[in-house]
Amino acid sequence: MILVAKPQLDEAEIEAVSDVLRSGMIAQGQRVTDFEQAFAEYNGVEHAVAVNSGTAALHAALLAHGIGKGDEVITSPFSFVATANSVLFTGATPVFADIDAGTFNIDPDLMAEKINPRTKAIMPVHLYGHPAEMDAIRDIAEDRHLLLIEDACQSHGATYGGKKVGSFGTGAFSFYPTKNMTTSEGGMLTTNSKNIAEKARMIRAHGSAQRYLHEMLGYNLRMTDICAAIGLVQLQKLDRYTAKRQQNAKRLTSELQDVQNIVCPTVKKGCSHVFHQYTIRTAKRDDLAAYLNSKGIGTGIHYPIPIHRQPYYQELGYTDSMPISEKASREVLSLPVHPQLTDADIDLITGTVREWSGNR
Ligand SMILES: *Cc1c(COP(=O)(O)O)cnc(C)c1O
Repeated sequence: MILVAKPQLDEAEIEAVSDVLRSGMIAQGQRVTDFEQAFAEYNGVEHAVAVNSGTAALHAALLAHGIGKGDEVITSPFSFVATANSVLFTGATPVFADIDAGTFNIDPDLMAEKINPRTKAIMPVHLYGHPAEMDAIRDIAEDRHLLLIEDACQSHGATYGGKKVGSFGTGAFSFYPTKNMTTSEGGMLTTNSKNIAEKARMIRAHGSAQRYLHEMLGYNLRMTDICAAIGLVQLQKLDRYTAKRQQNAKRLTSELQDVQNIVCPTVKKGCSHVFHQYTIRTAKRDDLAAYLNSKGIGTGIHYPIPIHRQPYYQELGYTDSMPISEKASREVLSLPVHPQLTDADIDLITGTVREWSGNR
């Protein structure tokens, strides 16, 4: 079976984790500090705050910006549910704006239409590793005095106009095993604001900057040194992994772009796409997925139900239609693109898609 995602862990990660275990210091410590510094430097930001998931990074980012009850945050309905859930955690209201059919990222014009006096922040998602329209989005944030929080959980190392995503506003990254780099579970908040970084550090540790002095309501969102040790090794490899993902994507596209009834992903000018997912579009999605699966090729659907259509959001009263997201949720199919694919794997994937197309 060719898996749709596979973390790449080898002796270096095993050694790094063993070192931490042998040291006996297994909670948050020096490795976390080192990982934060290395990640901040990699992303060209002043501060990085390590937490225990991407969801925690989003939650801490919103809280650090003072977002809460009565506030609205505009985001994409075509994402993993944690994007919008993090807004709900704070007591604020997620407001959805539909996506661009080409990149699957939030449409800045539709986003602007949703702004009202309660709007406090805008939260684009760099879906599949393709940067959102950051020029337009940054202009909206500046003109309308809105906070900018980026869900960069799928886009480690992606750039827009040469600048890393997660460095335009406050960024949130995930290190879940299927992401472009992992710490097992883990996340990171990135910011150029000392104030936001300090607040996030307090939110991470029970609202406390000084032991047993609690100045605000905080949580336990800490990352362990065990996880940070994995992250330090993975970060060293990230650019190499990304280059391999991009090379795999290029090969997939060159073999699949002329196949009838499927649309390959494109990369917008000025963007680098890190291909967390290589997601094609086809009206016969379920049929193609079943065919590939029967031939030993794993696929993914990101995402089969847009967030506003999830049962919980229906219960909350989200009734607006988001036609572009809804159509995408019926048509998207992610093919394997991860760095461990061999040339033979890619030949098998593309050959099988072509075979399917020829039989249909
Ligand atoms: C993975 C992901 C998250 C959540 O990250 P976790 O580490 O799983 O908590 C949030 N948003 C997006 C877009 C993601 O892909």
